Amino acid sequence: MNVYDSERMAEALAGIGFAPVDAPDGADMVILNTCHIREKAAEKVYSELGRLRQLKQDKADAGGRMIVAVAGCVAQAEGEEIQRRAPMVDMVFGPQTYHRLPEMVARAERAAGVKLIDTDFPAEDKFDHLPSARGAKGVAAFLTVQEGCDKFCTFCVVPYTRGAEASRPVAAVLAEARALAAAGVREVTLLGQNVNAYHGDGPDGREWGLGRLARALAEIDGIARIRYTTSHPRDLDDDLIAAHRDVPELMPYLHLPVQSGSDRILDAMNRKHTADDYRRLVDRLRAARPDIALTSDFIVGFPGESDRDFADTLKLVGEIGYAGAFSFKYSPRPGTPAALSESQVPEAVKDERLAGLQQLLEAQQDAFNRATVGRALPVLIEKAGRKPGQLVGRSPYLQPVHLDGADLAADTPIGTLVECRIDELRRYSLFATPLAARQERRNVA
Ligand code: SAH
Ligand code: SF4
Repeated sequence: MNVYDSERMAEALAGIGFAPVDAPDGADMVILNTCHIREKAAEKVYSELGRLRQLKQDKADAGGRMIVAVAGCVAQAEGEEIQRRAPMVDMVFGPQTYHRLPEMVARAERAAGVKLIDTDFPAEDKFDHLPSARGAKGVAAFLTVQEGCDKFCTFCVVPYTRGAEASRPVAAVLAEARALAAAGVREVTLLGQNVNAYHGDGPDGREWGLGRLARALAEIDGIARIRYTTSHPRDLDDDLIAAHRDVPELMPYLHLPVQSGSDRILDAMNRKHTADDYRRLVDRLRAARPDIALTSDFIVGFPGESDRDFADTLKLVGEIGYAGAFSFKYSPRPGTPAALSESQVPEAVKDERLAGLQQLLEAQQDAFNRATVGRALPVLIEKAGRKPGQLVGRSPYLQPVHLDGADLAADTPIGTLVECRIDELRRYSLFATPLAARQERRNVA
């Protein structure tokens, strides 16, 4: 989501003459796009600002001016605090204000020393200001379909920083997807904090769910792959499961966070489902699409988590078998109910549990990657590799796949889907051989 938002900011600023650079040294403007989800991410902002203070000074000494801005969810949540702790910051603005960026920058440029804070939630439609046809750069692109969240899991700041759940109308999503396809995009990842809660107004006057949206997107000429993230188990409805069975473009790779395997903890987290509900959901997904692989997020050391609760998490992981996962130590966030709990888990216990869980998850990820060796899989070619004649693409499971052969590179434009046999796993990369010399061809405009 933040990568997507950074692209939106870059586009808004391109309109007033800014171009992106690789490093902050000497830049006219530096924006930190921040994440508030865990304390560690939020604290990083202040250490980065410490570094930027020197760069801003260097630029001033050379007679120039560097505007320093903090954007994103830390800005949303801690606007005044940032200005207090880091007075050299010129602008602080939240995720709902990016369309006002050119105007804000113009004001900051006019008046050095004036501080701007904009953390409003607009009354107007959240999606009104999204760029309509973005300059797509590769074969894979993000596409926002939903924003915000109404779930209020007791550990999470998202409902406070990103606001209420809202879905973009179907027609707007399809129009952007068509524009992306016309610019050479072959894979779209639908984005939303709670993406499968999607319920956009359809052209037929009805509300469409994500399954129906995926079916319509799959019809667009050029779109070969569809993904979506992040889903909540409670919102995975029958139609979306059926879409995984019926729509080959919907990739068999789903991020479906469970957080914990203990019913007691799931209840305290306000997740609104049990571990068994999750098991049944996974069974139904696998029945619909047998080659589907799952990833998840986990929190260890949620307040009140006992050794037994944690053992239930390990048990669930052992049963499901994940292709990958993110796991985090519980981090108390200001304003969330769980932060007020008196049964916080000691840091040392969290460390130990995290290490145990990660060991299991890494072993599963490794086993999954190994199990792809010998399989025939379609690879979407994304770019040239480092070696001459080499191509790099991705499997349906987002694994990087390398293909060698000078003839092949000459024959296979970026954006082609190549059916391959996976030969070998080296570290995290797969190496593969195309199954037929010439594959589906499609030139990218
Ligand atoms: N909407 C998604 C999650 C979005 S936040 C869902 O419902 O699953 C991304 C991940 O950050 C979460 O899945 C969770 O594992 C982690 N996370 C969120 N708040 C956290 C906190 N306070 N401490 C530790 N991890 C947290
Ligand atoms: Fe946060 Fe996800 Fe829960 Fe929403 S559903 S509150 S984004 S963890």
